[in-house]
Amino acid sequence: MGNDGQQRDPWAVADDEVVRFTSDLIRLDTTNRGGGDCRERPAAEYAAARLAEAGLEPEMIEPAPGRTNVVARVRGTDPAAPGLLVHGHLDVVPADPADWAVHPFSGEVRDGMVWGRGAVDMKNTVAMVLALVRSWAATGRAPRRDIVLAFTADEEDSAAHGADHLVRHHAHLFEGCTEGVSESGAYTFHAATADGRPVRLYPVGAGERGSAWLRLTARGTAGHGSKPNPDNAVGALAAAVARVDAHRWPVRLTPVTRAALTETAAALGVKADLDAPGFDPERDVDALLARLGTAADLLAPTIRNSANPTMLDAGYKVNVIPGTATAGVDGRVLPGAEDEFAAALDALTGPRVDWAYRHRSPALLSPIESPTFAAMRAALLAHDPEAHVVPVCLSGGSDAKQFSELGITGYGFTPLRLPPGLDYGALFHGVDERVPVDALRFGARVLDRFLTTVE
Ligand SMILES: [Zn+2]
Repeated sequence: MGNDGQQRDPWAVADDEVVRFTSDLIRLDTTNRGGGDCRERPAAEYAAARLAEAGLEPEMIEPAPGRTNVVARVRGTDPAAPGLLVHGHLDVVPADPADWAVHPFSGEVRDGMVWGRGAVDMKNTVAMVLALVRSWAATGRAPRRDIVLAFTADEEDSAAHGADHLVRHHAHLFEGCTEGVSESGAYTFHAATADGRPVRLYPVGAGERGSAWLRLTARGTAGHGSKPNPDNAVGALAAAVARVDAHRWPVRLTPVTRAALTETAAALGVKADLDAPGFDPERDVDALLARLGTAADLLAPTIRNSANPTMLDAGYKVNVIPGTATAGVDGRVLPGAEDEFAAALDALTGPRVDWAYRHRSPALLSPIESPTFAAMRAALLAHDPEAHVVPVCLSGGSDAKQFSELGITGYGFTPLRLPPGLDYGALFHGVDERVPVDALRFGARVLDRFLTTVE
């Protein structure tokens, strides 16, 4: 309530701030080139200053020079209620200005959109959260649960200077948090029924495949390239890589993927009964996906494990057979399918090739029958009543994996209403990354509703 007893419009200022903050954050170049080459500090200082202006007490955590994280707690009205984590990363992937229609670090507003690296992934979300909590402070509103804000470094590389560091060394800042929301979910996915009627889906992230980045090593007998050699490491490695590449992984449906298939099909008017007698996932899921049109793109990456060969390394001279050969494989593993993945790799690589994890992170699976999921669904439908909210497992990963180590259940929820024709999925790490101004304002309202109504 304002001083005059009138309810002040919570968006009078926030609608401008969410656009300005997105632009400002894009202009603060936080390119993460990997291997420690990044400097998030200017964006962290910017975010912390906006929070301090709203009466919060942000803490800056800098595990290495320039690699700055910001954590702050918004006190809820019910001290007995569990806390909720809202996290977003401050770093961005590189962008080459030569490829772009506008400079990727200009933050320019043009044609109703904010342009630049991070407009999608994910300075837009940081800006929405900043504008929202400032609106709460200015209008005397507060959520029921404590909201812990974490703006992290290093998500686009290893998270070693970001969420991983926070979880290992500053766990107390997240005390009481049972759930968290962050990137990759709740933005409009434009689908259509078989007869062409448009349908707006909002896929909310409720799980992530785990990462299993592998090193394959073949050891053989080194020797002269002109001599017979039945123990050639290059040949053994090439055969194993070809088997991994050709492997058809079995369909494995997690509860989230089952719900995703069922609810997406229902939204599109496609008959699907995964519990029908005789339904054979291995035989029938691909046929079902084919009937979902473009919506299949959301689901296809998450019905199987995957293992894509990405690197090869062997030899130093064409007439010398090397003693070893190595390959890199990007494996992604569904929740609950870790043992099966390892057994398959043993079989595919065979006795002449060893494999080991070079990096591994867990798969996540979050409940979708939860009050939190219901609150996310209700918040989206309140602002887009004709939409369909569906749970989805993410094909890749986010900082939610790190925070899961604190027992925090993660959801992908960064709401945006997007116009048809904008291929938003392609803008993540893409050229001409941009976000509509209207989408930012919609997202702030949905976030507001979710964070103030979630039980
Ligand atoms: Zn991201």
